[in-house]
Amino acid sequence: MAKKSESVKVVVRCRPMSEQEIASNYERVVDMDVARGMVIIKNPNSTDSNLRDFTFDAVYDWNSKQKDLYDETFRPIVESVLEGYNGTIFAYGQTGTGKTYTMEGIRSDAELKGVIPNAFDHIFIHIQRTENEQFLVRASYLEIYQEAIRDLLSKDQQKRLELRERPDSGVYVEDLSSFVAKNVKEIERVMSVGNQNRSVGRTDMNEHSSRSHAIFIVTVECCKIGVDGKDHIRVGKLNLVDLAGSERQSKTGTTGERFKEATKINLSLSALGNVISALVDGKSSHIPYRDSKLTRLLQDSLGGNSKTCMVANVGPASYNYDETLTTIRYANRAKNIKNKPIINEDPKDALLREFQEELLRLKSALEKRKKKGSKKRHKTQQEGDSEGESDEGEENTEGNLKVEQERLEAERQSILQNKELLEEEREKLVSGVQERANQLKKEQKKQEVLASKIKAMESKLLAGTKSIVDKTDQQQIALEQQKQEMIEQKKRERTIQQQLLLKEESTLEAKENYSSLQEEVEVKTKKLNKLKSRLKVTKAEIVDMKSEQAKVREELAISLEELQRDLKLRSVIVDNFIPPEEVEMISSRAEYDEETERWSLIPTSQLKDRSQSWLTRPVSGPGGSSSRSGSSSLRHMYGNVLQVELDMPNRTTRDYEPSSAGWQAVLDDAFKDEEEITIQVSSNDFFLFTDENRPKAKRKKQKLQKMKSDREFKTVTAKSKPDDGFPTSRGLVSSSIRYA
Ligand code: ADP
Ligand code: MG
Repeated sequence: MAKKSESVKVVVRCRPMSEQEIASNYERVVDMDVARGMVIIKNPNSTDSNLRDFTFDAVYDWNSKQKDLYDETFRPIVESVLEGYNGTIFAYGQTGTGKTYTMEGIRSDAELKGVIPNAFDHIFIHIQRTENEQFLVRASYLEIYQEAIRDLLSKDQQKRLELRERPDSGVYVEDLSSFVAKNVKEIERVMSVGNQNRSVGRTDMNEHSSRSHAIFIVTVECCKIGVDGKDHIRVGKLNLVDLAGSERQSKTGTTGERFKEATKINLSLSALGNVISALVDGKSSHIPYRDSKLTRLLQDSLGGNSKTCMVANVGPASYNYDETLTTIRYANRAKNIKNKPIINEDPKDALLREFQEELLRLKSALEKRKKKGSKKRHKTQQEGDSEGESDEGEENTEGNLKVEQERLEAERQSILQNKELLEEEREKLVSGVQERANQLKKEQKKQEVLASKIKAMESKLLAGTKSIVDKTDQQQIALEQQKQEMIEQKKRERTIQQQLLLKEESTLEAKENYSSLQEEVEVKTKKLNKLKSRLKVTKAEIVDMKSEQAKVREELAISLEELQRDLKLRSVIVDNFIPPEEVEMISSRAEYDEETERWSLIPTSQLKDRSQSWLTRPVSGPGGSSSRSGSSSLRHMYGNVLQVELDMPNRTTRDYEPSSAGWQAVLDDAFKDEEEITIQVSSNDFFLFTDENRPKAKRKKQKLQKMKSDREFKTVTAKSKPDDGFPTSRGLVSSSIRYA
């Protein structure tokens, strides 16, 4: 099939003023020309009427209805997914502008529900109305937060998932759960469960949702007999993406964890921006998809095999002007992304195929069991003394199993009533019959399990039925078609309007022949005025761009400074607390994995010409041997990297005051049961102290050990006071340490 390229559809939606904004009398700076698909933005800080306009595939103002957006913009995408295309709909914009409202809306309200619930209805109605095709619908739901992927449908919400890539099917999330849904209710439940998991443990859900990306994935597989008389499976995948808030995260003043968090939050979104830029600039040969989880996962949606629509959400009020303009510019660039969607036909990993194969297997297994049971019984019947009819060749149906049970019961009764048998013989015979009855029951159970499995699987394969497409339904369908045609007509009109506008400008410039000097002056004055205003807008645009760039540059500078500071700290730690030869050893074994974006250590078994003395050197002390022997876990391979944390004295109630008597009392109390610690230092040997291998009772003592830069230890007694009232880092502890 020839690949036809098409642009990413971009629409802008502006929410109504909120009550608060109305109460505060904010000026509205966004205007929308719905007929032309144009957004006009006014700079509230500029005195002259400085207007900026942008055109899109469609724009939706504060009066727009959820259903209008769906029918006009999203329905065609979902329709394509039902045909076997990939589709992506994502909502972009500042927090509080209506991304979640657009994607999800108010699910319980038919008027107010967003794209996702509308898509659910659309998909299952389509299936109901389609005859002679088999469908399988499944859903997954995930979240990306600080570059970690969480499966929102998994039982284990602590687990983080990784992205993998396969040459045939592309990038996928490893171990992501998916649930087969038979109807709207079931898929809605999947969404509810995911939403619940998303909010579990969140004190501030607004904060969390503004910083994480939520992706709901619906896969629709459809099997149909093709012209060749064979089954063909088409697989359409729909990504429904509620992105993190696009507002600039202020990193100023944040340090440490908070800083890292801030950079990570931005990573996926700025990577998305970079991917869009690279795709549209036409010169880039490299598209930086790999820079973030989001862009890797949505790789197909941006410049690949997908029909994609982006909704840029903005707020109307003046105080949002900067963010609104940034969002609109972002959206304006995205218009130029070209995708190449194709129908996914007979992919190797179609679940429907697996379902069909499994069903066949189960059915034949059931068949075999029935046949076997029937043969066996026939045999016993011939051997036994029952007068039951032969069921050779007959299907061992449920009824037959019952007949067999009755026959066994009769046999049992006849044995019991047979007076000629000795008690012993009778018991033996009865227990034999009982044994057969038990086996029969077991067999029956097994067959029932198989049959119900088959039934459950079959119920998941959906197909439309003729009875549903009745008269009222047909009228309904006709009505919908009419509506859809009207919408298409509206779209065509909009395109014509947009083209007219462009033409108006170009004809003005193209006209060269004038009937009179007067006319020439008039036309040229008009042209001059037009150019003047365009120049003004362009100049303003340049100013905006410059300040935008300055902001980005400033942010990058802050990031760089923070990273350098972090790096310096790490260097200080490494230089002072880790022996150079260990650093050397670790460095030489370290390997960077592009796939997982992690450093890992090459197992020593794969190292050929490297000294392994560190592995064999003598170890002693309480934890030394245990940390080496019998464990191949990576943690222990680091050998001597200290993993203990800076513990503070074991107090939990009051804050200590360094100079008060209370502090000393606590210290004294903490150490009153302990005596002297003797530390023997041998310069070559090190061992690892971890929370596991360190004897618990002795931990408090270690709090007082202070390491000197020359890596020698003082002998510390329990009574001695730490130098500055604070326990200091123990750093690397030389072995052997013996405790008194
Ligand atoms: P976001 O997900 O972008 O942070 P929300 O979807 O949570 O924003 O919207 C913020 C608030 O604005 C919500 O109270 C929402 O109901 C309201 N809202 C957003 N868009 C619209 C709209 N088009 N019409 C009416 N209310 C809206
Ligand atoms: Mg939201």
